[in-house]
Amino acid sequence: MRLAVLSDIHANLEALEAVRRAGQERGVERWVCLGDIVGYGADPQACLEQVRQGMAFCVMGNHDQAVAGLGDLEYFNPWARQAVEWTAAQLRPEQRQYLAGLPLSATEGDTLYVHAHPANPGGWGYVLNAPEACTALEATSARLCFIGHSHQPLACTAGGLLSTEDVIGLRPGERYLVNAGSVGQPRDGNWRACFLVWDQGDNTLEFVRSDYDLQKAQAKILSAGLPPFLAQRLAQGY
Ligand code: ZN
Repeated sequence: MRLAVLSDIHANLEALEAVRRAGQERGVERWVCLGDIVGYGADPQACLEQVRQGMAFCVMGNHDQAVAGLGDLEYFNPWARQAVEWTAAQLRPEQRQYLAGLPLSATEGDTLYVHAHPANPGGWGYVLNAPEACTALEATSARLCFIGHSHQPLACTAGGLLSTEDVIGLRPGERYLVNAGSVGQPRDGNWRACFLVWDQGDNTLEFVRSDYDLQKAQAKILSAGLPPFLAQRLAQGY
């Protein structure tokens, strides 16, 4: 079975559709979302429905929580806050309820899925470097812990960081913390949509990058009246 792990779609439909095609080409049979379906991009309704109808499950991100009216907007920067308010107005009440009902984490066997940090899933702390990744790995006993939130792909074991450029062979007895990167707003200097394919038969993890129609996604953000910076940053991968 091949499982795709997606995070931080952020209402970028062009990126999500490219990732879905890339996953299908790789024989992906099951899809899991690590949250932040919405916020920043111009297609919150379509992205929400693709996750709700086409994926096994989704955990809650901080933007999902804020759009559902449950989060505190204080710590959002001005353009993120503007996007949250715009997004909330686009969604139907039952779509906001779907976001409100997402769990903060999900466990399947010895695998944990959480948007931000396994130590405190609703605290929205970031895992940005090797020491923080080690701390996060120690906070869980899961063999595999998948996270998102930073929009930067990362993988580590107790021994340190692993390259995200190579296919990672999962070794028995080893524990892993893996950030799936971001589908809709990568921030690692690469504009291409990022996601993970977990081949559960071969015991491998692979980061996949997909070209998508960047100009179309940018034009939709501008014509929606969202902050222009949200369109510009997509091209920079930041
Ligand atoms: Zn995010």
